Amino acid sequence: MAGIHIHPHDILDEGVTQIKELIGEMTDINYIFPQMNTIFERNPYPIGVLPHNPKHKFVQGKGEMYVVLPSYKAIDQKRNAALTPDKDPLMILKTEMEETDVQIIPWANILNGDFTGTALQDNLVVDDQGKAAEKWLCPNAPDVIDFWEKVFTDTYQRYGYTTYMIDRIRYPDWAGEKVDPRGLLTCFCPHCEKKMSEENLNINEIKEKIAEIRALLKDKQFDHAVDILTQDQSLKDWHRFRQNSVTTFIANLTQRMKQIDNRFAFLLDLWPPAYSWILGQDYSQLTKYASSLKHFPYHKLGGGADVQGMIDYFADGSDESESAFKAFNRLFGLYDDLSYSQFKKEGFPIRFVAEQNKLARKKSQPDTHIFSGIQMWNIEPGKLVEAVKAADESEADELIYYCYGWADRELFHAIGQHRRGENS
Ligand SMILES: [Zn+2]
Repeated sequence: MAGIHIHPHDILDEGVTQIKELIGEMTDINYIFPQMNTIFERNPYPIGVLPHNPKHKFVQGKGEMYVVLPSYKAIDQKRNAALTPDKDPLMILKTEMEETDVQIIPWANILNGDFTGTALQDNLVVDDQGKAAEKWLCPNAPDVIDFWEKVFTDTYQRYGYTTYMIDRIRYPDWAGEKVDPRGLLTCFCPHCEKKMSEENLNINEIKEKIAEIRALLKDKQFDHAVDILTQDQSLKDWHRFRQNSVTTFIANLTQRMKQIDNRFAFLLDLWPPAYSWILGQDYSQLTKYASSLKHFPYHKLGGGADVQGMIDYFADGSDESESAFKAFNRLFGLYDDLSYSQFKKEGFPIRFVAEQNKLARKKSQPDTHIFSGIQMWNIEPGKLVEAVKAADESEADELIYYCYGWADRELFHAIGQHRRGENS
């Protein structure tokens, strides 16, 4: 069986009747994951139109909250302007799905969004040169966990849910409104630096190594930069620190929520194992606090990473792109025999799906329930079915499709045909 990710605008623009009809065609959906708050992403991304949305050709995500909550002081998230108690997408979905067997698991983006509040500046992620990342909260900052404890408590009180998918539980990657690899060089906020000192990390040495990497990348010495990134002990310690910071945040948030209601549980949205370590995600530690996770080992899109954005940012011309892509593959233990031009055409080989699911299984605690993400957009029905088969045959337990609103009608149909054993 499987789940599907939907956006607030899908509910508000299309209505739940149409959503039920289209996902009904797939025949394998037993969970809906509705977003509580959005990210800064065009829907669909990066171009194209929403094929069955009667009101909008595309919708720009603005990092806004779409559940009805009280306002909070220290940290808060901007509410969508159209949100009212009567026009509340999560409540509409809950009410209209009541008579079905489909379980609703709200999906929250934790550390990335359009945040506000009196203490915001003291809670942002900061890079090695002291520049704050405006839309990212630091897992070590003091008010972030209080904010999310209040959000989940108040969401529980209004809507009754105790299980949530939590996404963006990491440091920034290089994608977003524009490509910016400096997100990877965080966090040096006062709270992180204090904690690093307490743990005897040499902050100056880490910053010096980062400066060296910056210079090498500027000089197009990609391989040398990767050598330092993978071999230098101070950077290894620093990546371990980042991973511990995210794990501690999740452990504490889980513990706080279980004190409010023991049924509280989080599903983790992680990056595929190839990349997770560099973003502060450690599968083996995190799965001590959550029994389910989802990752996105979709080969065509480079496993959810904006690989092309990264390569094009650093490289000029095809020779440089090829050498940057080779270094990228070496950094993440991927494909040394794949050329960049081939990747741009076809993505990673389809065996990426099985390989990343196998790694996710190996790195996670025993019996972790693994969802493998499947992209339902910009893909032919036959290729979608091929990706579904690869995920079904992998070590993942179930699939999560996304996104509902981006998917052509024929794709819902193709899944249904495949599930019924008909040829598509
Ligand atoms: Zn920090």
